[in-house]
Order: sequence, then C-alpha cells, then structure tokens
Amino acid sequence: MATLVFLEHHEGELLKPSLGVLSKAAELDDDVAGVVLGSGVREVAAKAGAFGASKVYVADKPELEHPLPQPRVDALASLLGSQSFDNVLFGATVLSADVAAGLSARLGAGLNWDLTDLVKQDGSLVGKRPALGDSVYVDVGWTSEPRLALIRSGTFEPRESGGEAEVEEFDVQFEDFSTAATMLEQAHAESEGPSIEDADVIVAGGRGLGSPENFKLVEELAQALGGAVAATRAVVDAGWYPYATQVGQTGKTVSPKLYVACGISGAIQHKVGMQSSGVIVAINKDPNAPIFEFCDLGVVGDLHEIVPKLTELVRARKS
Ligand SMILES: Cc1cc2nc3c(=O)[nH]c(=O)nc-3n(C[C@H](O)[C@H](O)[C@H](O)COP(=O)(O)OP(=O)(O)OC[C@H]3O[C@@H](n4cnc5c(N)ncnc54)[C@H](O)[C@@H]3O)c2cc1C
Repeated sequence: MATLVFLEHHEGELLKPSLGVLSKAAELDDDVAGVVLGSGVREVAAKAGAFGASKVYVADKPELEHPLPQPRVDALASLLGSQSFDNVLFGATVLSADVAAGLSARLGAGLNWDLTDLVKQDGSLVGKRPALGDSVYVDVGWTSEPRLALIRSGTFEPRESGGEAEVEEFDVQFEDFSTAATMLEQAHAESEGPSIEDADVIVAGGRGLGSPENFKLVEELAQALGGAVAATRAVVDAGWYPYATQVGQTGKTVSPKLYVACGISGAIQHKVGMQSSGVIVAINKDPNAPIFEFCDLGVVGDLHEIVPKLTELVRARKS
C-alpha cells in the first residue's frame, strides 16, 4: 500500500489538520509520502519528515502561490500520472475540500468525505464516518483507485516521530482553464488568543447564556484559563457569536484537553464536534439536559452565578 497526503501550509508552517492525517497515515502504512504545493515551499516541505513522510513531492511554481484549487488539481493529477499511490488523503479545510472534489472529478476516482477514522483491513483502507445526522457510524470503502479521502479537521493529532524526508520536485502541466482565476484579495479575521482548533482549553457558550452580551462571561473564563471561546449552532445562527466558532456536525471538530460547556443542552449535532475532548465540564440548570449523559463533571445550576465565580477562582489560583 502506498499513501500520499496533501499537505497544506501557511506562513512557512504545515497546518495541523494535514499533519494529523500524515501521522495517522504513517501509523497505517510504511510507504507514506507528502505533497506540498506553492511558491517558495521547499523548506516547509522538509518539515513533513518529522511527522512520518519518507518522501515529500514539491511543486514550486508561481501558479501555485495563491490558495486556489484548480492549479492544485493540475499538480496532483500530474504527480499521480507519474507516481502510483493507492490512497490520497486530505485533512479537511476549505481549500483541501475543493482540491479533493476537483481531483475526484478529474480522475473519475471516488472520494469519501467527512471521515472520522481510518483503519486497515485485509491490506487496504476502510474509512469510518458518521451518518443519519451523526447518530450512527458507518464503514465506507472505495470501488476505484486511487482512494481519495477527506478527513474531518481535528480528528487526528499530529505526532512527531523525528524522521527525515527526501524532498523531490516534480513538474506540473497546467490547464488553461485552471489558471484563468486570479486572487484579488485575501483577508484574515483578526482574533486574539488561540484558535479553537489549536486550543488546549475551550469554553463554549450556548443559548442558556440568554443574550449575546452574556458571552462576556464565557470570554472572561476563557481568558482566565488561557483558552478559546466556542459556540453552539443555536447561538451563531442567532447572530450572537461568529460562525467560525461553531462546534459540531456543521461546524468544527475540536479535541481540547478541557471543554467547559456553559448553557449548552448537548444535542447530538453538538456532541459529535467535541466528544473527543479530554475532560468535559458542563454547567446547565436542567438536570435532565443530555450533556449530563456524556460530560465528566456536571454542575447543575445557573451559569450566571457559577461562571463568574469560577473565573474569579481561576484568577485567584493563577495569581
Ligand atoms: C442538520 C443539523 C446540524 C446541526 N449542526 C449543529 C452544530 O454543528 N453545532 C451545534 O451546536 N448544533 C447543531 N445543530 C443544532 C442542534 O440540534 C441544537 O439545536 C443546538 O446544538 C442547541 O444549542 P444550545 O445547546 O445552545 O441550545 P439549547 O438546546 O436551547 O440549550 C440551551 C441549554 O441551556 C440551559 N440553560 C438555560 N438557561 C440556563 C442558565 N441560566 N444556566 C445554565 N443553563 C441554562 C438549558 O437548560 C438548555 O439545556 C444542528 C442541527 C441540525 C438539524
């Protein structure tokens, strides 16, 4: 079995979702390579060796400078034309999802998406993914090769194994239609503190907060703990907090060491995005809230009383 992992990068660093997938691939397969696409990316490509890639293919081209999907589809199609891989894996991000879908169409190869696990059975890969509103997990396979898979962001933790990768450049045949789009502007949302994908501690707020202003309770606790703020879909849909902070089936999957859920009922669609957190603490005034069925520590009470006291306590302990 030979596996290729699409490695995304930003400002000279390989991104965590890609590295998590690379580490998992190295656990399942002895023959794992990465592919890094961009402009001026040789140095970043070499970093993949430490996470299990024995080889990293690099296309270093001006056409690949901006994060546009179609030139990347050309690059991957060129590489797969000269090198044979059984599996091509992607850690889900907006760009990777576009590239994976484009490659699937280009090669006529099946893409399984939203996978939450990968296992090896009888020498080939089997994916696992949630189905029926995340109420069951199903095994999924492929009837074509290469097997393309898009893995939910945050599913696998990057693990450093300390190896070194051989870096090899390859050439790309760009299609006219692939380079027709140009990027006019790229903007980044300004935020303070760690992002919810990277944070060790997450304090999440739900509809139980009662109003958008009360998110400051959650923000203060997150700040005291050095963590990030997350939210449920109910509150982002209501415009109380940004969509980028939504955790769950249609939001992000997170796995911090500590997840503090404040005024969150624990609906299945929220649970699937945070159930792999190390310790889950729930504060909810309803003793029958579903979140009490899967949290590690539950506090039945009014969050407006409990959260400020908790923040005070954390601050006092820290000082
Ligand atoms: C297809 C689909 C996809 C979805 N995707 C997502 C997703 O990605 N993420 C997500 O989060 N949801 C998702 N949902 C929505 C999900 O089903 C729930 O509706 C949502 O998670 C509920 O959010 P909540 O817990 O903030 O609100 P509620 O369910 O209204 O819960 C509020 C909780 O706060 C408690 N409470 C109220 N006042 C207080 C107080 N003063 N002190 C303490 N506790 C208090 C209540 O007891 C209650 O348990 C999805 C739904 C569908 C159908």
